[in-house]
Amino acid sequence: MTLKKKKIVIAIDGFSSCGKSTFAKSIAARLGYIFIDTGAMYRAVTLYALEQGAIRSGIIDEDAVVALLPKIEITFRFNPRRGASDIYVNGDLAEGRIRSIEVSNCVSGVSSIKEVREKLVAMQQQMGRDRGVVMDGRDIGTVVFPDAELKIFMQADAKVRAERRYKELTEKGDKVTMEEILENVISRDKADMSRAISPLRKAEDAIVLDNSYLTVEEQMSWFMERYEAIIAQ
Ligand code: C5P
Repeated sequence: MTLKKKKIVIAIDGFSSCGKSTFAKSIAARLGYIFIDTGAMYRAVTLYALEQGAIRSGIIDEDAVVALLPKIEITFRFNPRRGASDIYVNGDLAEGRIRSIEVSNCVSGVSSIKEVREKLVAMQQQMGRDRGVVMDGRDIGTVVFPDAELKIFMQADAKVRAERRYKELTEKGDKVTMEEILENVISRDKADMSRAISPLRKAEDAIVLDNSYLTVEEQMSWFMERYEAIIAQ
């Protein structure tokens, strides 16, 4: 008889463009867990608000965003080619569009709206209710799953992060400059850390992973050591 391993919640929080999603995706694939990119959910709301005119010239009309909330249905569908789930807004594939610089520039403002957070946090808690999930974001270990068995707080040098994001966007054909990416990364960190509701902060019981100069493989072996120790308890 084989002993079934207990399933846990793995919370990964940290700064913008730290490689949280890449890391979380690798962990989920390795453990057979569900991976949930909560940043994609805040981006999806932002995209919809932009498309519906609730954000104009970078100015967010908070009441209009709140009024849109009941009309936004966010779903995930597994994409075997990517080895991760794509996000859909009201049935339309939104995966590529949510990563644009326009969405990146408005997402911190949208994510600071109380009603937006309430809706998305409730969805995230529902998605992880059976455990066996790796969730990445800013408030997973502090608010969404304060009882997560393993909490990781990721950080990396801002310049290294901007270079990674720049490479990712230019490879996709986006016309962006290194300066605007760096500015976006720094301003999002600042906004995410200073907002009134669920600001980005390290949970007391989270372990820090600085991946400025680590490969994905090195991060995985760092992770597996901690994971095995928790599972063995
Ligand atoms: O993770 P990503 O950089 O795609 O997240 C985009 C933005 O969504 C963040 O800058 C932050 O403002 C917001 N966010 C959040 N809480 C989360 C995940 C993301 O406020 N759990």
